Amino acid sequence: MTTILDGKKVRDARKEVLMAKIKEFTLGSGGVLPCLAIVQVGDRADSSTYINAKKKFAKEIGAEAVHTKFVETVSEENVLREIENLNNDPRVHGIIVQLPLPMTMDKDIILDSIFPEKDVDGLCAENSKKWLEGRADAIWPATTRGIAEILDASSISLEGKDVVVIGRSFLVGKPTAEMCLSRNATVTVCHSKTPDLIAATSQADVIIVAAGKPRLIGASHVKAGQTVIDVGTTPDPVTGKIVGDVDFDAVSKVLGDTGMISPVPGGVGPMTVLALFENLIDACYNAKNNK
Ligand code: NAD
Repeated sequence: MTTILDGKKVRDARKEVLMAKIKEFTLGSGGVLPCLAIVQVGDRADSSTYINAKKKFAKEIGAEAVHTKFVETVSEENVLREIENLNNDPRVHGIIVQLPLPMTMDKDIILDSIFPEKDVDGLCAENSKKWLEGRADAIWPATTRGIAEILDASSISLEGKDVVVIGRSFLVGKPTAEMCLSRNATVTVCHSKTPDLIAATSQADVIIVAAGKPRLIGASHVKAGQTVIDVGTTPDPVTGKIVGDVDFDAVSKVLGDTGMISPVPGGVGPMTVLALFENLIDACYNAKNNK
């Protein structure tokens, strides 16, 4: 049987560690309550689902999540003013802007307005430069950190391995490719214009797919013994169920007893939420130490 990389199990184990750290922060007279501020513009159903999952997780671990929701037509100025308030609010340790933003807004201006020390998504220019350089003090975007941690939990080293990352977005594909490079893998990045995906995936040791294309990776893309990480989350238009980019059953059969695969749901998704709050707790520690 192919080994399942169970993100829920890893998350639950690490959640305990996170809760202990939060308790440590909140105890005593000088205690602080770790607080994540979430800024949403518009009313996309998928964004609201992801935000609700973050708020639920915050409650479960004893952290605080405050949510500011603007209508889609809000001016960029108003959003920037809110971020400025959150930047200057000592009760807030981390700020995220739920992406995507409406086309009318300049994502870079908005993201760069977050103080780097509160940018727990690691996407402002100062922070993205750090992960692009593979620096030890980089704040990795949550999905990338979640992928790294699910690999670590199964002792999967990337050193010297051939890794294929499918997807080159700023949010997932690029930071994940950089994370693999920083772990001394040889990395190939594929995207929608890659002419022969099978040629790339079939020679890899590890395949990480973040394309948002259900069943993009099938039996013909893989071989026995590989590790396959499925980041994709697309709602099935008929059932509404979330599906990944990998044809799980067909691929598992080929990977065999020596292969490993992360499922959707229950793989990278739970790890992403966990990693966001791990970034928040790191920001709390840094704020405390720099006082
Ligand atoms: P995106 O649309 O910004 O990027 C998709 C990337 O996939 C692009 O670089 C594109 O070139 C590539 N691509 C598209 N079709 C392809 C094809 N046929 N062959 C090869 N490459 C192809 O999306 P994103 O924000 O990077 O997210 C990717 C997927 O990951 C989505 O399904 C998203 O919902 C999911 N996601 C999941 C989590 C999680 O926590 N599990 C977090 C973030 C994103």
